[in-house]
Amino acid sequence: MRIVLVLVFSLSLCAQTTVDAKQPAAPIAPVAPQDYVCPMDKDVRSDKPGFCPRCGMKLVLGIPDDVEYPMELKIRPAVFRAGEKVQLKFRVTDPHTGKTVDHFEVVHERLFHLFLVSEDLQYFVHEHPVPQPDGTFLYDMAFPKPGMYRVAGDFYPTGGTPQLIAKTVIVPGAPGSEVKLANPSLEPELGVSHCTNMDVELVTEPPQPIAGMKTLLFFHIKPGDGIEKYIGAWGHMLVASDDLIDLIHDHPFIADGGPQMQFNIIFPRARTYKIWVQFQRNGVVNTASFTVPVAELK
Ligand SMILES: [Zn+2]
Ligand SMILES: [Zn+2]
Repeated sequence: MRIVLVLVFSLSLCAQTTVDAKQPAAPIAPVAPQDYVCPMDKDVRSDKPGFCPRCGMKLVLGIPDDVEYPMELKIRPAVFRAGEKVQLKFRVTDPHTGKTVDHFEVVHERLFHLFLVSEDLQYFVHEHPVPQPDGTFLYDMAFPKPGMYRVAGDFYPTGGTPQLIAKTVIVPGAPGSEVKLANPSLEPELGVSHCTNMDVELVTEPPQPIAGMKTLLFFHIKPGDGIEKYIGAWGHMLVASDDLIDLIHDHPFIADGGPQMQFNIIFPRARTYKIWVQFQRNGVVNTASFTVPVAELK
């Protein structure tokens, strides 16, 4: 009699387990309002499926917790100097299993966005390493001069959340020469930035940005015609602190294809920040740059 009871008990346990395992794949609970969230702009919510009006990403039903996905960067050849051809290889691993991630969501028409910034904040690159069948990404380049660089990968592993992971690379110069690692002293550069086929003017609100507080960045483009989306967004902005600690990739808060675009940002610290912003006009990608001092909250 006792044996039968035990059997019944374990059978019902099994049944219970099976039902539990099926639940995440087929949710039957009614969807609460505003449950669709943009994985990138988490304040954008909707009660129905669709796309984020700000960055164009597909809204998802509930986002997983923010967990960092380790990104490995290997440079070949292992010994290299400024000006020499090298290959950067990026490998993302799953923080839970340690395995190479080989499924990524498309973000702004690409699987992997690369930002490269030199220590003096004069050199800026936004490129797209080539995906390989094993899940890694390759990018051929030459570092233009000796010094320290920040190399940031921007990607969205399937099942995770969008990531921006930065690595530091020290690039040697001629044999025997020392690599100078000086802190750049950046002069403010506000007003108009002259680009390939447009001028871009920046006006901030408040005029003196304050660390930890929201700053509105208004970009005015002249001429204002022929503005096009560039890889899925009206504009792309990378913000870097002068010590290269803070890196932020952002998209317009308000944009409609007209000559004015608004980005909202919270500068994390009272430092000087370099801003690169990219807009496309008549098929040409323009990169405007500004240097903005950020004050402490008093
Ligand atoms: Zn990109
Ligand atoms: Zn972007």
